Order: sequence, then C-alpha cells, then structure tokens
Amino acid sequence: MSLRLLLIEDNPAIAKIQKHIAQRLGYSIDVADSMASAIDFIEETDYFCAIVDYVLPDASDGEAIPLTVGADIPTIVMTGKMDDSTRDSVMQYPIIDYITKESRQAYNYLETQLKRLPRNENVRVLIVDDSKPTRNLIKSLLLRHKYRIAQADNGQMALDQLAKFQDIKVIITDNEMPIMDGIELTNKIRTQFNSEDKVIIGISGSEDMRISAKFLKCGADDYLKKPFYPEEFYCRLSQNLDMQEHIATIRKQANSDYLTDLPNRRYFFEQANQQLKATQTHLMAAMLDIDKFKSINDNYGHDAGDDVLKAFAKQLANCFKTELIARLGGEEFAILFSSEDGDKNLAKLDKFRQKIENLVVETDGFTIRFTVSAGVTQMKPKSIDELLKQADENLYSAKENGRNRIVAN
Ligand code: GH3
Ligand code: MG
Ligand code: MG
Ligand code: MG
Repeated sequence: MSLRLLLIEDNPAIAKIQKHIAQRLGYSIDVADSMASAIDFIEETDYFCAIVDYVLPDASDGEAIPLTVGADIPTIVMTGKMDDSTRDSVMQYPIIDYITKESRQAYNYLETQLKRLPRNENVRVLIVDDSKPTRNLIKSLLLRHKYRIAQADNGQMALDQLAKFQDIKVIITDNEMPIMDGIELTNKIRTQFNSEDKVIIGISGSEDMRISAKFLKCGADDYLKKPFYPEEFYCRLSQNLDMQEHIATIRKQANSDYLTDLPNRRYFFEQANQQLKATQTHLMAAMLDIDKFKSINDNYGHDAGDDVLKAFAKQLANCFKTELIARLGGEEFAILFSSEDGDKNLAKLDKFRQKIENLVVETDGFTIRFTVSAGVTQMKPKSIDELLKQADENLYSAKENGRNRIVAN
C-alpha cells in the first residue's frame, strides 16, 4: 500500500513539481491549496507525512505548521525567503525540516527527505547517555524522523542493548557516564563491528577540545558537541547513514553476479577461504555446469540463454538456502556444502539435478528444457582452488559419461 502524503501549497506550479517528485517515490498525494482545505483533508485521512507551505492565502504566517504537527503528521516546511526570525519561528515546532524554495537544491533536498522517511522506520538508533533529559531530547528528535529507538544510561548497558537488538544501525553516545564511558564503549563496539555495521556518533558537553579527536581515533564516525542544533544533528545522522548505505550497496555489487544476482566467484572464494581456515575436518563442494548450453544460445538466442541462466540460478538459490553458492562464470556454478553428511548432500544435489531436468523455461515464445551435470568432492584441501579443481575433474567425468549426472569421490 502506498504512503499518503498531504501537500499544502497554493501555487499550482510548485504543487505540480512537488507532487511529481512524491509520486515518483511511490507516495499517493492529496493537494490542499489552503489551510481550510487542509483541515478537511486531515479530518478524513491519516497521513504518513505532510509538506506545508509557510505562506498560504488563509494562513500567511506559518499557521498551517501547528495544524499538521498538532495532528502528529511528520511535517516538512517549504518557505520562500528564509531569514533568521522565520527560521526560529519555524524551528520552534517539532518539524522534520524546512526547505527554502528559492535554493537551487530545494527539490533535490525534498526528494532526499521523502526517500529517507520510510527507510528510517527500519533503522534502530541506540541512545547512550546517563542524563535522562538528554536522552529524551534525542529520542524526540529521532521519533520525529520515524527512527526506532533503544536506550542505555551507560556503556555496559549499551553493549547489552546491542546484543538484544541486532537491528541497531547507529549508536549515539555521550562520553561522561558511570560504569563505562563513551570512548571505552566505542573501543569495545569496534572490536566487533565496523562502520558498515554500526555507525557511532560521539556526543559530549565537555569543554575539553580533545574529546572529539579521542572519539574519532577510537573508531567513532562523527562527533557532536552538546548542546547542538536539531538541524546539525539530523544532517550528520543522515549523512552517516547514507554513507553506510552506499558502502553496503557497493559491497553487494562487488560480491554479486550482475545477471543472476547470485554471489560471484570473488565472494565464493572469500567466504570459502574463511570456512577452510575455521574447519578441522573435510569440506565438501560441487561444481555444476549446464549441459550443451552453447546450443541453447545457438538455437534460441543469447537473451533466451540469459533467461535460462536466471531460471537456473533461482532454482539453485531456492534449493541451497543454507549452503554457500555462486555463479563462477558463464554457465558454471559452485556449491560449498554446510553439512558434513556426504550422503545427505549428494541426495539433495541429485534432487536438484532432477528438478532442473523437469524445469520448463518459457521465454520469447520458446519452451526450453535443459539438464545439468555436477562433480562433487569431499576432502581436506590445502586451498579452495584444490577443492574446486578436484570437483571439476569429477564434473569432466560426468560430461564424458553422458551428462545430466553427478560424479563424486
Ligand atoms: P557442455 O555440456 O560440455 O558443458 O557444453 P556447453 O555448450 O554447455 O559448454 P561450452 O563451454 O562449449 O559453452 C558455454 C557457452 O556459454 C559458451 C558461451 O557463449 C555461453 N555463455 C557464457 N556466459 C554466458 C552468458 O552470460 N549468457 C549467455 N547467454 N551465454 C553465455
Ligand atoms: Mg553524561
Ligand atoms: Mg556447459
Ligand atoms: Mg562450461
């Protein structure tokens, strides 16, 4: 279901642009061109958020802001010129943000905010401070932007909360606290998690200028001196989260195959090497290769061949949810089994082979059926290369012996 947004704007040209941006992000939008009409809308509907023009024909001095804020609707204010006194009058309300219409960045900024709000509902932030008023202040700022919250009043309790809520992505921590201070907490968190997993923002009311450097040097991503402006708080928080998301996206792209979205060769070797280091016993792996794949390309075209690869990858991912799997390249795939029970693994693999034999891929008006061969080995290898090489030799035998079969040793 799409999220509902109330757009209060009397200038039709501006309303049109804003509506376009919000629609593109999947919101469904109601446009009110006056405060009176906005009141009618709010009586009828629950809104996920609102964009409010500061000057309206029947509300010339920001009166529509307390209307939406009072109805508990997260509110973004759009203003004409932004002088200091307008800013102060706008910021006395618990709004998400204000955006100056004249700024060239205004609409990009609006888009970023509208994109973030639904995302924030999945981001849990841990607030660590021994002062309850500070925790409450930060909590209210975060709730306004729809973040989820966890709290702790010292570093030790923060570690407990981290163990309890695995979805914590950001830790905002004070330094001066009993039992364990913020810098020690940051050090402890960084032995387990890097910034990709958990963003840490240090805060402190101390006049000691060295605190920020101490935080940053022991692994914090950012630092804020108390007291801070809500705008600075939000900017730093979202910049750090954006960075965290960008890194996650790049990492995912680097580790997955563009066509099938399966893990790629690089990821497979990285993970398999870790398992090799950790294991005392044998590893069991399979190399799989689609039979006569070249003829699928030749008969039905390269695009149809791609569809076959995608369909194969989907089945592989469905059948081997707990194993490490990858597309190594072309029509070659690999499995590193998680169970040491060789018979069980072989039975599972043969079930998969039969599933592929019975699979029908419909593409471009063609009905394509195909088979797969696999070579399996179980050994204590010196390297993952050695393991896959042995599996590959068995795969070669499977091809030699007629294809659509598994050869294991
Ligand atoms: P065999 O049963 O011995 O494995 O025969 P085969 O035809 O499957 O093996 P061969 O290695 O001769 O051919 C593999 C073909 O896979 C050749 C290559 O053009 C094709 N191929 C590799 N990557 C892709 C891809 O991403 N998409 C498509 N459509 N074809 C690909
Ligand atoms: Mg304190
Ligand atoms: Mg092949
Ligand atoms: Mg091949």
